[in-house]
Amino acid sequence: MAECKKETNLTKCTCTYEPCSRKGICCDCIEYHWKMGELPGCLFPPEVERTYDRSLARFIATYSRV
Ligand code: SF4
Repeated sequence: MAECKKETNLTKCTCTYEPCSRKGICCDCIEYHWKMGELPGCLFPPEVERTYDRSLARFIATYSRV
């Protein structure tokens, strides 16, 4: 089993939601949000990430404008 890169991931995590026990544990982050039809905060640009709307609809709307 691969070693968890939590400490390295934390240096790159762009999620502003504090506190979150899943921060840096990307597999848990993806599983948590995907179960709710969402995506991790790091996949959104900063101005959208700050809204905490992590829905697929917001993701598609955001990148449809690019
Ligand atoms: S995106 Fe969600 S699960 Fe991931 S670190 Fe941020 S608040 Fe936690």
